[in-house]
Amino acid sequence: MVVIKTSRELALIKEACRISANALKAAGEAVQPGISTLEIDTIVRKYIEKQGATPSFLGYGGFPGSACISVNNVVIHGIPSKKCILKEGDIVSVDVGAFIDGFHGDNAYTFPCGKISAQAQALLDATKESLYEGIKAAQAGNRIGDIGHAVQQYVEDRSYSVVRDFVGHGVGAKLHEDPAVPNYGTPGRGVRLLPGMTIAIEPMVNAGDYNVKVLDDEWTTVTADGSLAAHFEHTIAITPDGPKILTIAD
Ligand code: MG
Repeated sequence: MVVIKTSRELALIKEACRISANALKAAGEAVQPGISTLEIDTIVRKYIEKQGATPSFLGYGGFPGSACISVNNVVIHGIPSKKCILKEGDIVSVDVGAFIDGFHGDNAYTFPCGKISAQAQALLDATKESLYEGIKAAQAGNRIGDIGHAVQQYVEDRSYSVVRDFVGHGVGAKLHEDPAVPNYGTPGRGVRLLPGMTIAIEPMVNAGDYNVKVLDDEWTTVTADGSLAAHFEHTIAITPDGPKILTIAD
């Protein structure tokens, strides 16, 4: 069931999103050669808790971290670890959610660690831009398929591929609500977008083909062909005046 939020609920979601965005920003500022992904996770958790919020991901389905931190060929759901030490040239996807006053915010960004290759940078640029293409398509009256189509078109025009096995989602009192928001689709198909809907659009883009596999830890999701992957996400609100990005840092 798709939940339409009241203006009061939207204000609360906006605050959860602001905290999520600040936590993501803090994570990005910590990305550098020599730091472990567990240290970044601790920075995220401490920031969120200091705001009186709780990390949405901590304990979600048994997830052990406050952030998902996914390096290079890891697409999503990387488990923070003191053994995972970042090195120059890595690309580091951080996915963070915060929960406060009954609502969640959710966002992700792939950060470069030091100097990265031109190929890696091009993947990051394309994935980030595809998110904004998806957001542009999120107009009231459009449908979910319009968002997915916009993302997919942008990505595939650059010879990358969009992951099929994981998708964006509604965000609100629950971290994952209806509707599902795939990063692929057919224009004019799917749930109609209405003012008051809040959704996370989150392209996961592989440099190789779109197949992924989940490792034995049941979380870490890697590209099947070992290629690099990137992930960018915003929580947005559908409004009569167009899509509004809620996950904006101070
Ligand atoms: Mg999400």
